[in-house]
Amino acid sequence: MDLKPTPQEQQFREELRAWLKDNVPPSYAGETETDEGKRLEFEYLKAWQKKVFDAGWAGISWPKEYGGRGATVVEQAIFQEEFALAGAPGLVNALGLGIIGPTIIAVGTEEQKQKHISNILSCEEMWCQGFSEPNAGSDVASLGTKAVLDGDHYIINGQKIWTTYAHFSDWCLLLVRTDPDVPKHKGITALLVDMKTPGVEVRPLRQITGEAEFNEVFFNNARIPVANVLGKVNEGWTTAITTLMNERANLGGGMYIAFSKQIGKLVEHARTTMNNGKIVAQDPIIRQKIAQSYLELEVFKHNANRALSKMSKYKVPGAEGSILKIYWSEMNQRLQQTAMETLGPVGQLHGFDNGDWVYGYLRCRANTIEAGTSEIVRNIVAERVLGLPKSY
Ligand SMILES: Cc1cc2nc3c(=O)[nH]c(=O)nc-3n(C[C@H](O)[C@H](O)[C@H](O)COP(=O)(O)OP(=O)(O)OC[C@H]3O[C@@H](n4cnc5c(N)ncnc54)[C@H](O)[C@@H]3O)c2cc1C
Repeated sequence: MDLKPTPQEQQFREELRAWLKDNVPPSYAGETETDEGKRLEFEYLKAWQKKVFDAGWAGISWPKEYGGRGATVVEQAIFQEEFALAGAPGLVNALGLGIIGPTIIAVGTEEQKQKHISNILSCEEMWCQGFSEPNAGSDVASLGTKAVLDGDHYIINGQKIWTTYAHFSDWCLLLVRTDPDVPKHKGITALLVDMKTPGVEVRPLRQITGEAEFNEVFFNNARIPVANVLGKVNEGWTTAITTLMNERANLGGGMYIAFSKQIGKLVEHARTTMNNGKIVAQDPIIRQKIAQSYLELEVFKHNANRALSKMSKYKVPGAEGSILKIYWSEMNQRLQQTAMETLGPVGQLHGFDNGDWVYGYLRCRANTIEAGTSEIVRNIVAERVLGLPKSY
């Protein structure tokens, strides 16, 4: 891949940088550990996403006819990079933008695209992903949430779990079992579910960080129109694979900047802070670990560029997304561990550096579980990249 920016990409970067310079708000400063605090943060971030959309910067590579910018995936990566460089708050409709919108664009009807895509970009519709169940996580095809046809509606009964942002969501991309009498991958259907439908109940779950970011979602005779099937009936597994490939694809540019900033702060801390009469950077183990973090980040950058190059060429996410997902999630856990060792006990305080370090350390435990555990994603690499036989 030629990494030299084209004049068009350079102009895109400059325009975006100028807009961000004038418009980036401060990070949300309130607490997020109470339900009310988390809700206020959500409202703050929702307003920010609307502003980004109104200025024409949401959905960089999404089709223009649905409210996107119709630009390239390289420009999408530049967008993520500039966002991170400017310290802009993230776009809160992350699942809508990262996985559900792209799935609707890929397999939705024209009516579904018209109805949902620009609302996802503006965050007028917040979305969640209802795949995992208490007995169907890694093996999501074993899901048991039932959908029974009744005229022009499906009646849904069952339970989902770990549903990120379900408590703030207007819509859910839900996987249900429509045919229990065929092999498990063949009887699944994907549905677009309005979360205000009677019979849908959301119960927040608290994480190790103290926040309730994900939820249990219960369906008790919820009636969903047949017109809300995404893709084909009983072919929901194909729809789910489109979603999961997008979930693991990451253009990496924004992450590279965010990790770089963290390593930069650690270097600064190690250079300037005394511990037991010596500067931290003189500790032979700490300096080895910080150097290792830097080295891993550079490896990440090259892997991210490789993924970007493939995405740019083939337009759909491939196995390189899985490689990158394993790499960044495990790299981040090592980096956060190094951060705790470098900072010492002060790193555990919520009052130190905005509580970012303790939050980062606690939150990163989930990185190797969410969007597919490391074991599952390694199995995908083993099968799809290396051609090894399926695991049992
Ligand atoms: C922060 C967070 C957010 C999430 N958000 C969502 C969401 O929005 N929507 C959603 O649907 N889900 C979500 N999930 C759920 C996530 O996708 C699942 O947790 C994940 O797929 C693992 O499923 P499980 O928790 O049931 O673990 P299990 O599947 O029970 O796995 C337990 C352990 O067994 C291992 N294992 C299982 N099968 C194999 C195998 N074949 N080979 C080797 N090892 C194996 C796993 O790697 C794991 O270590 C989220 C999870 C987290 C942590």
